[in-house]
Amino acid sequence: MESVDYSVQGTVFDIQRFSIHDGPGIRTIVFLKGCPLRCKWCSNPESQQYYPEVLYRKQLCIGCKACQGACPKQAIVDSNPYWIDRTLCDNCAECTMVCPTSALSMKGKLMTVEEVVKELRKDATQYFRSNGGITLSGGEALTQPRFAKEIFKACKAQGWHTAIETEGYYDTKIVKEIMPYIDLVLLDIKSVNPEQHKKFTGVDNEKIKESAKVIQSIANTTVRVPTIPGFNASEEDIRGIAEFVKENMPNVHEVHLLPYHNYGQGKYELLGREYELENTPKIPEEEMEMYKKIVESKGLTCIIGG
Ligand code: SF4
Ligand code: SF4
Repeated sequence: MESVDYSVQGTVFDIQRFSIHDGPGIRTIVFLKGCPLRCKWCSNPESQQYYPEVLYRKQLCIGCKACQGACPKQAIVDSNPYWIDRTLCDNCAECTMVCPTSALSMKGKLMTVEEVVKELRKDATQYFRSNGGITLSGGEALTQPRFAKEIFKACKAQGWHTAIETEGYYDTKIVKEIMPYIDLVLLDIKSVNPEQHKKFTGVDNEKIKESAKVIQSIANTTVRVPTIPGFNASEEDIRGIAEFVKENMPNVHEVHLLPYHNYGQGKYELLGREYELENTPKIPEEEMEMYKKIVESKGLTCIIGG
């Protein structure tokens, strides 16, 4: 069996247990920090930066100003609606140590592979009982390729099913190195239109299209399409994605359409950021059914949600 380097470190911002949405069975999801995309609808904005970040929950703040005295950058100012001037803050965490109510807290911490596996082991019985396993998510987990690879290797050594939620924006060299350790890839294809993709995610989609072809040739892959009003929620866009999958990803048989939701909106406020899709409406069920039929018309199985 290939040896695992349990000492490799990476930045994790959450570990969620008992998930039933991110792969088969009951799963533990490990969220890694860092993402090269800036999708306007991102429901995990706290995942995007590669470093731990300070969050401010104004509902918990009692206005004691202890944080102001502790901040070496004078970044906490009365006039700022979120208190923290993010142009000054370097996320040193000093303020979180004096805050009496946990209104200030850090998101993200360095962990070793050994520490992650120790957490995962707590749920191992569930993995075997439910045919579940572990899923790496983010952010984009493969922006920490060495850390992700060693976690996957460690999980395979335990006999656990492995999955990843990924957006495919990395070199095919990484795909070839890591995919052999992954049992299921849940790969986002957001749009096949390069300009539109860049406008809504911050990057163009050439690299993703190339990765997608290689990923599906190595690992069991399901395509997921976040379906977003004003971005790709149109007959033309969904048809374009389904055609891309059919023509370029012959081993993919299932596409999941994920209807837009705004569950992550509150987190933008904690980070002192603006949520650009405010007031974006949900997509009516009939419209999602129409998109489903378009995907099915290309000979693919389509599930709404997933
Ligand atoms: S994290 Fe550090 S720099 Fe940022 S507001 Fe808190 S004390 Fe100031
Ligand atoms: S230390 Fe905490 S509770 Fe006190 S003013 Fe700062 S954020 Fe608010």
